[in-house]
Amino acid sequence: MSGKGRKSSGQETQPTPEPQVNPYADTLKRLQDAFNSGRTRPAKFRVTQLQGLSRFLKENQKLLLDTLAQDLKKPSCEADISEIFICECEIKLALKNLHTWMKDEPVEKNLATQLTSAFIRKEPYGVTLIISPWNYPLNLLLVPLVGAIAAGNCVVLKPSEISKNMEKVIAEVLPQYLDKDCFATVLGGPQETSVLLENRFDYIFFTGSPRVGQIVMTAASQYLTPITLELGGKNPCYVDDNCDPQNVANRVAFFRFFNAGQTCVAPDYILCSRKIQEKLLPALQHAVTQFYGKDPQKSPDLGRIINDKHFHRLQGLMGNGQVAIGGHSDKEDRYIAPTVLVDVQETDPVMQEEIFGPILPILNVESVDEAIAFIRKREKPLALYAFSNDSKVVNKVLDQTSSGSFGGNDGFMFLIITSMPFGGVGHSGMGEYHGKFTFDTFSHRRGCLLSSPRLEIINKLRYPPYSPGHQRLLEWLMEHKLSFPCSIL
Ligand code: NAD
Repeated sequence: MSGKGRKSSGQETQPTPEPQVNPYADTLKRLQDAFNSGRTRPAKFRVTQLQGLSRFLKENQKLLLDTLAQDLKKPSCEADISEIFICECEIKLALKNLHTWMKDEPVEKNLATQLTSAFIRKEPYGVTLIISPWNYPLNLLLVPLVGAIAAGNCVVLKPSEISKNMEKVIAEVLPQYLDKDCFATVLGGPQETSVLLENRFDYIFFTGSPRVGQIVMTAASQYLTPITLELGGKNPCYVDDNCDPQNVANRVAFFRFFNAGQTCVAPDYILCSRKIQEKLLPALQHAVTQFYGKDPQKSPDLGRIINDKHFHRLQGLMGNGQVAIGGHSDKEDRYIAPTVLVDVQETDPVMQEEIFGPILPILNVESVDEAIAFIRKREKPLALYAFSNDSKVVNKVLDQTSSGSFGGNDGFMFLIITSMPFGGVGHSGMGEYHGKFTFDTFSHRRGCLLSSPRLEIINKLRYPPYSPGHQRLLEWLMEHKLSFPCSIL
């Protein structure tokens, strides 16, 4: 009998399970050791790494644009602004504000703690994990990374295996610009990521679908690891009768067809009356022709679908309702024309999943109240849009619904405001980032109080034997504050 077998009481030979090998153990140990050495904590180290990241973007700009074109045929203007420039802005902001962000934040004290030093320390979590999707494969990996570095963490990066050309660049080129003991890239798809998630991290930042978000959250719960989930879903777009149809059509078409519709915050479907739909359709057709010409397939400004699986999924969705605009597709080119569907029912497949492609269904509602009821019946979306010339209507939608972000008479322009948090709510995610919010996300805010080892006399008030007089005085001291700063530490 081989040494691998084990005899059970029933004489059968049971194979001994192979010892479980953790392919990520060495990488994680290297990062943990580096973090424990304190190397990532000084501002100087963080600045050097952020500068490295900035050089990566500058020195490889052409490579990155070519790679985004290979994966998604991203038009270079879209790629530059939404992937490279946004990351550069985030790096500049972090470099400019790093010292302020890192500083201990003093807190207001009461008289009972007046002689102490009380503050919030922004502490790095440790070894963190960033998992990203394929639709903005650079932005959605590097923007969280900027905050993770600024906050003093070590990071394991897990880019999407689906944007395979960018995955290769991240694995081969990016490490040349970052400290190898503190930052690592792990490659692979669902299977490899599942094994990776069996390891203990100090923080997990996940961007992707709600389905995989659930898997990540379950894995994180094993160690009670704190997480951010940046998820997706269906983003409603209400169009009021009182609007300028051409302005609305331009804005909605631009944000729906940007990156060939593969954007988590894109308007997913329109809710409007039949009356305004009649005016919107020619306006949407006009916008599509203005943007992409008579034959959008020939336009250099329209991206392509990431892979055959998504192409076939989207082709299937075009069979819902009636095609009012577009409807053409080309498998060889993974091209789906900017398409608008009408006569769509809420029970149609196109209304059961996030479209994530250049298809825009229109559903009819008779009033803003009906639109609000429709939206409220569903999961809280990542983004919600309302278009009207009447600000009361826009504010009504804003007041009576909930979503990660909100756009009134505009698309996802909120993404370029770094002073605004970005993140989902409920089914569309938890946590927030961008600008300083990313630094905060990757920092543990540690409440600290430092007291004098002397002055024991003033502590007597706290100690037993308790008395009503001491209690009253203590409560009074807890309730009141000095109007000027005073501390002995
Ligand atoms: P996805 O959830 O399929 O994959 C995201 C990441 O998870 C990838 O790196 C992938 O390798 C990994 N993964 C996939 N299956 C896994 C599994 N079973 N176990 C562990 N890891 C797994 O998402 P996607 O298709 O890459 O991206 C599209 C989704 O992402 C859409 O739902 C979109 O709305 C969402 N998204 C959200 C944001 C945001 O900021 N909220 C941004 C972009 C995309």
